[in-house]
Amino acid sequence: MKKTISRIRHYYIKPKIAEFIVENGIRSLPVDPFELIRRNKWPLRTYQYHSEKLGISVRDIIDTYETEDAFTIYQDGRYSINYNDEITSPGRIRFTLMHEIGHIYLNHLSEFEQTVLTRSGLSDAEYELLEKEANIFAAEVLSPFPVLQKLGWDKHTTIQKYCGLSKRAAISRVAQLLGATNNNGQQNKTILNNFYKYIYQKKCTHCGLGLVAENEKYCPVCGNSLEWGDDIKMKYKGFSLSETGKALLCPKCNNEEIHNEGDYCKICGTYVTNKCAGETDLDPHGNEYVVQAPCDTVAEGNARFCVYCGCRTTFYQNGLLSCWEEEKKGMELGPGRVGGGSGAGTGARVGASNTSDRVLVAKK
Ligand SMILES: [Zn+2]
Ligand SMILES: [Zn+2]
Ligand SMILES: [Zn+2]
Ligand SMILES: [Zn+2]
Repeated sequence: MKKTISRIRHYYIKPKIAEFIVENGIRSLPVDPFELIRRNKWPLRTYQYHSEKLGISVRDIIDTYETEDAFTIYQDGRYSINYNDEITSPGRIRFTLMHEIGHIYLNHLSEFEQTVLTRSGLSDAEYELLEKEANIFAAEVLSPFPVLQKLGWDKHTTIQKYCGLSKRAAISRVAQLLGATNNNGQQNKTILNNFYKYIYQKKCTHCGLGLVAENEKYCPVCGNSLEWGDDIKMKYKGFSLSETGKALLCPKCNNEEIHNEGDYCKICGTYVTNKCAGETDLDPHGNEYVVQAPCDTVAEGNARFCVYCGCRTTFYQNGLLSCWEEEKKGMELGPGRVGGGSGAGTGARVGASNTSDRVLVAKK
């Protein structure tokens, strides 16, 4: 019951890609295929491993399997992936391994009854089609269109940097992006949903706050503009608030009896909701006048500034929250690691793929 294929099955692979992303909890970029291979318990071996074990050269392996980069074996219902780790480009290895995963996940080896996916059992045309399907799978998992579009990444340098693709793959991705039609609504939604936190991760390079923010423009702690990125993560303390932005305990006297109605603490008279206070100034006669009216947005418990208009919040204006610089200084003096702007998170992820294959091979 060998299947045949006469054209690229977009109707089949698009939902499979979204399903793969969800099933494997892929929520950020770059995607690490080594991690996915581990997670799915597919044995991974290098050409060098086979070369030593069989006493033949890596060149012999390349010739036998007719592939420079990688091949996948399907035997007794089990898969194993094999790749050439003499290839030095991490972007190329990343794509190659994801391509192999594509063959597995798209059931190319099981449904087309090939134990090894080489040209031998298939017509050239069929082989090329399965190759194209695996390439689409790899490109779309490593650099999902809906995510690229949402983030406005249309330059190959950006895609290369954040998706970890080779320059060549990134350039071809840009070309595909330009010709892309948006006719996979549900699958796009599924993917965007999974990447929500990644897409809306924001950072403030001024005070070091990291947060997830969809429409917010200004840092709630220091009022500076927010940028996309997650390489810094500072947490600032604040007060616990109810859903309506009202403090659970009075921020000044700790009175627990904060009622739903009324905006002031009945013990000390403090205004207990944190929200945009607008901006006022004093005229030459010492009279207060409104520079910007409050936009009435309810703010978070640690917000000194309104994230929509950049004005001060009521808590900050009333001296209930300290200046963020003081708090930062306090945290830096205190024990433990504070998330300073070292960018360690990104570095660790990029480097990980180079060592993990050796761990896996050694185990076998
Ligand atoms: Zn292939
Ligand atoms: Zn800030
Ligand atoms: Zn009070
Ligand atoms: Zn505001």
